[in-house]
Amino acid sequence: MNNILFMEPVFKSMIWGGNRLAINYGYNIPNDNTGECWAISAHRNGDCIIKNGEFRGKSLSWLWENHRELFGNIPGDRFPLLVKIIDARDDLSIQVHPDDEYAKVKENGSLGKTECWYVLDCDEDAEIVIGHNARSKQELKEMIERKQWRDLICLRSIKKGDFLQIDPGTVHAIKKGTLILETQQNSDITYRLYDYDRLDNGKPRELHIDKSIDVIRCPHVDAKVGGKITRFDTCEVEELIQNQYYSVSKIKIHGRHIFEQNKLFLNVSVIEGKGEIDGIPLKKGDHFIIPYNYGSYELNGEMELITSHI
Ligand code: ZN
Repeated sequence: MNNILFMEPVFKSMIWGGNRLAINYGYNIPNDNTGECWAISAHRNGDCIIKNGEFRGKSLSWLWENHRELFGNIPGDRFPLLVKIIDARDDLSIQVHPDDEYAKVKENGSLGKTECWYVLDCDEDAEIVIGHNARSKQELKEMIERKQWRDLICLRSIKKGDFLQIDPGTVHAIKKGTLILETQQNSDITYRLYDYDRLDNGKPRELHIDKSIDVIRCPHVDAKVGGKITRFDTCEVEELIQNQYYSVSKIKIHGRHIFEQNKLFLNVSVIEGKGEIDGIPLKKGDHFIIPYNYGSYELNGEMELITSHI
């Protein structure tokens, strides 16, 4: 039987990052500007190392190349998903991602980026940017040229437990005081539309206005989220989203429950509480992959988990 693969996360310093990855999850972060924890990632900019079992010390991308059977022998040149925790102490730049088609042509065969956010925690008055008010590309161009950011950008209040889907072409930004678990396509292509005129080491960060205008969808339409909730005696499974790139669910467990791993692979992040999986201790902040053909597994404890698969 294949082992569960526990990940060693990779951390990223960002001008907008903070220290809640250490405070809330006990991670050993590099500094007090740590913005991202790449929790389940085989991306070359942050490739997780396996912490346990026969593959201890190997990277997730190495496993993808050399032991594809762990992922049901799916074709493809890269592990398809990337799971991150983002700690925004300050506002992130307002950005947009291309779809697969645009990225393939304009970004050297890269994938586009579809992503979704589960709000792990946030300040009482926290907001995010999602969508814009331009009715056409022409109006979008004019508003950007005139720097009418306040009229253009849509702000929305958020609270802990909210879930948002960011389709390619959606203007978006995480704002200060927000801790998010992001599940996304394995891509790092971001076009920065506006950065609040901030300076990084004395210089503004690069903007990508033309590419942003190319890919922003006009008018903005909110993506649909939410799905079926299945309740058992000791657990509740809520579908958050299913699309062509990923299916994401939330599991709340209070006691023991046996599940069947019937996916090609299953990414799991423990977001609250503690417990165990098949007798292996689990705590908030742990991330792992249950490989193909693992069979049934038992969760036990008081925990909340976010899972994803293709
Ligand atoms: Zn994004």
